[in-house]
Amino acid sequence: MILIEHGALVTAMDERLGELASGYVVVEGDRIAAIGAGDAPDEWRQRAARVIDARHMAVLPGLVNGHTHLSQTFLRGLADGRPLIRWLKEVIWPAQAAMTPEDQYLAALLGLVENLRCGATTVVQHHKLSGRGHMDAAARAAARVGVRMLLARGWVDLGPTGEPLDTILAEMQRLYETWHNPQSAICNLQSIRIASGPLAPWRCSDAAMRRITAWARARGLPTHIHVAEAQDEIDLMLTRCGKRHIEWLADLDCLGPDTQLVHAVHVTDAELDLIAQSGATVVYCPTSNMYLASGAAPVRKMLERGIPVALGTDGSGSNNSQDLLECAKIGALLAKHATGDAQAVLPEDLIRMMTESGARLWANQKLAKRKTQDAIGTLKIGALADLTLINLNNARCQPVHSAASALVYNASGADVHTVIVGGEILLDAGRVTMLDEAALLEECRHAANALMRRAEIRFPDS
Ligand SMILES: [Zn+2]
Repeated sequence: MILIEHGALVTAMDERLGELASGYVVVEGDRIAAIGAGDAPDEWRQRAARVIDARHMAVLPGLVNGHTHLSQTFLRGLADGRPLIRWLKEVIWPAQAAMTPEDQYLAALLGLVENLRCGATTVVQHHKLSGRGHMDAAARAAARVGVRMLLARGWVDLGPTGEPLDTILAEMQRLYETWHNPQSAICNLQSIRIASGPLAPWRCSDAAMRRITAWARARGLPTHIHVAEAQDEIDLMLTRCGKRHIEWLADLDCLGPDTQLVHAVHVTDAELDLIAQSGATVVYCPTSNMYLASGAAPVRKMLERGIPVALGTDGSGSNNSQDLLECAKIGALLAKHATGDAQAVLPEDLIRMMTESGARLWANQKLAKRKTQDAIGTLKIGALADLTLINLNNARCQPVHSAASALVYNASGADVHTVIVGGEILLDAGRVTMLDEAALLEECRHAANALMRRAEIRFPDS
């Protein structure tokens, strides 16, 4: 049993966020067993095998990084001056094609350690690399580090790297049975789940989109797709079928509460209404959108319509880090800058994106119907014990008048102190517990340099 005491308990749902006095959380097994304001009762202190003094720390539900590509961890800083489609075609796709499964495993491990250090307990990994070994490498890395992973199996059936529909379905079924299916021998349903990951509307045929979404829905799995990221992507779909991205999804009956829309930068008001009616979740990736000069997603309008908005770093190829707290600050500033409204997005909105709304991405529709207790993203008795402790006792954050403001505008991933996933301490006062981090960094340096030589990538923008 773990007792966390004297911390500022921060939940997005609490309207008095920022004024909360200190409190305690008790973790027993993989669950939150008790929570309260003030000092912990003696009974808990006596029974606790471990007591964490969280004085001057914020205690949050574990952060959810709503969208990333861990294979890009080896590709940071290679294309600082390219817009989206050139960035993909000239750097990201050729470099990823040169990656071996072992490169993929190491890149995923490194990216997950960075996510963990930045407070993420759950990561949504969108993965598009050919070959079985690559996909399984990402899942193996998540199992090693202990962070929860929603693994969206990337697919395209149009263009030079398109796969036949039957191949995509067979591979998704294999992944589902290997990593997700509760009957599987090696499955850990609590830590790895599978999703359908169509890359973007312009790379997917109508028939494949319908068929694969139906396959996912039959198993309660979500669909995680990039949409409306850059204007030229919209033009591609308008030329192909006369429809914008959200219209296309809605007309195919592929827009619902199980749809996760990444980016949604170039969406009309009518499309926002469609998203709101469908119950889909948007994943806001402000840093990546600014990096690739894609634009600013209309987040204020989304929140006004009641659309759940999660937050994602996107891959390190377009960020170039995995720091979700940095993303939160950038997300707030971008929304203010784009709208000219100082209240476009409040700190509380960003905290909700990183916790409560992010947790929607993890939810499995079928399990939710069976009322299986698998809630994350909340500080409640009975919820899974995924917790992020952030140290605010430093010169950049003090004095703290509002915990929400300090978290969004002052704190960064470097301030994350301790991370617990399902009752396991994965980051313990700044130390990664599940692997030798120094050895991993050394291994990754060698592997990434060898990859650059094989892919013949020498200069960032040559
Ligand atoms: Zn992405």
